[in-house]
Amino acid sequence: MKMYQTTQPIEKYLNIPLECSCGRTHFAPIKAIRVSSGAISLLPDYMKQYGYSHPYLLSDRITYDIAGYRCEAILQQAGFSPFTRILTHMAYDEATLGEIVLNKPDDCDVMIGIGTGQITDMLRFASFKLGLPCFTVPTAAPMDGFSASVGIMNVDHLKATMPAHASEVILGDTDVLKGAPMRMTLAGFGDLVGKYNALNDWRLGRIVNGEHYCEKIATMVEDYVTGVTEDADRIRDKDPETIGGILNALLLTGATVSLYGTSRAISGAEHHMSHYWEVLGDERGKPFAMHGEQVAVATVLALSVVEKLKDRAIDFNRARAAAQRYDSDTWAAQIRLAYGEAAEAILALEEKAQKNAPEGRLKRIDAMEEKWPEIRSLLETVIPAGQLRELLRSLGCPCDPRDIGVTPEILKDTFLYCKETRTIFTVYQMAWDLDLMDEISDEIIRFLKQENRI
Ligand SMILES: [Zn+2]
Ligand SMILES: [Zn+2]
Repeated sequence: MKMYQTTQPIEKYLNIPLECSCGRTHFAPIKAIRVSSGAISLLPDYMKQYGYSHPYLLSDRITYDIAGYRCEAILQQAGFSPFTRILTHMAYDEATLGEIVLNKPDDCDVMIGIGTGQITDMLRFASFKLGLPCFTVPTAAPMDGFSASVGIMNVDHLKATMPAHASEVILGDTDVLKGAPMRMTLAGFGDLVGKYNALNDWRLGRIVNGEHYCEKIATMVEDYVTGVTEDADRIRDKDPETIGGILNALLLTGATVSLYGTSRAISGAEHHMSHYWEVLGDERGKPFAMHGEQVAVATVLALSVVEKLKDRAIDFNRARAAAQRYDSDTWAAQIRLAYGEAAEAILALEEKAQKNAPEGRLKRIDAMEEKWPEIRSLLETVIPAGQLRELLRSLGCPCDPRDIGVTPEILKDTFLYCKETRTIFTVYQMAWDLDLMDEISDEIIRFLKQENRI
């Protein structure tokens, strides 16, 4: 089947290969997504439809009380005998995986996870390891990982990207979701607004690096995020339709990782900032904030960099001189200071990618000079930082570094070094290539200090 010309409801993208004019075939191995009032009651129907008879339910104490007991009762009423495990281990690690595997009934033919992040991610790892299908029932919508097919887990005390199953069926019951803590819903919204910058980064990659790009996927992500942003003032009223819309958009954006094959459409410089804060948070043993909250703050900052670049007269020869001056040993010393224990992994990544090496950088500078009018008009189309900040602020979502405990010193390091957590091209790589990141970040931090926002 051909990829659709215009953005469609989420169901249309699931479990069907879509041949696209971008040259790729898009496929998301999710069989069904339902976000609606009473969606949980569809569990037995989906069990029967896909031929499963022995469900293994996973929740924790809290999510069992929120929705686990109802899933259990609904399945029992339909004639199933679900086995429920209320998990006592709750971390992204071997112990939790062990508890899930150890308690699995021998006759289980489908696993059903009820909760957010931790439970649903661990469910997908276990489901993959055991070779069993899984369903997910989200109890809140704080991030876009529900529809993913990989995940991050601690293995030997180190974070590793591990293969995981995508959920076959995801049932978002808006009667459950509207009861979720407002902070979680706002974090989900924060993860969504990050896509404004992520899409801009992808488009910059297309212009500067000739990177592969799919306009249909980019537009689809943009349409879903814009739809939710337009309705955002109803989040505070816990309007079930709006909260369902957020989950729906998070599921769709998460599914683009399968559809496109990478997270290019949904993760850029704003996620790199959040990753960097995660590294610092791990070191001090306390996270700055929830993932989506960090992404919200980071998006306002990344969009500020976009604005600074857009309004500048660029000196491309200065950029070339900086590229020629680059010394990888000095850079490595800076990375060791900024990343501490995580530095070796970052150095190894750059060793392979060589994205900072003069040769590639000079090529990109040539491309930027040649295409600056095109780049500039792209930057004109991105939502202004101030407008997004005002929206987040009005909802009560963190929007300034101060809101999540990021100090001027940390922010300076974040601007300079966060791009090293991944190898994709972003607006931060662009500012760095042009020898402007130091200057621009100083200007932004000075402004934030004046405004008492840091
Ligand atoms: Zn495509
Ligand atoms: Zn995210």
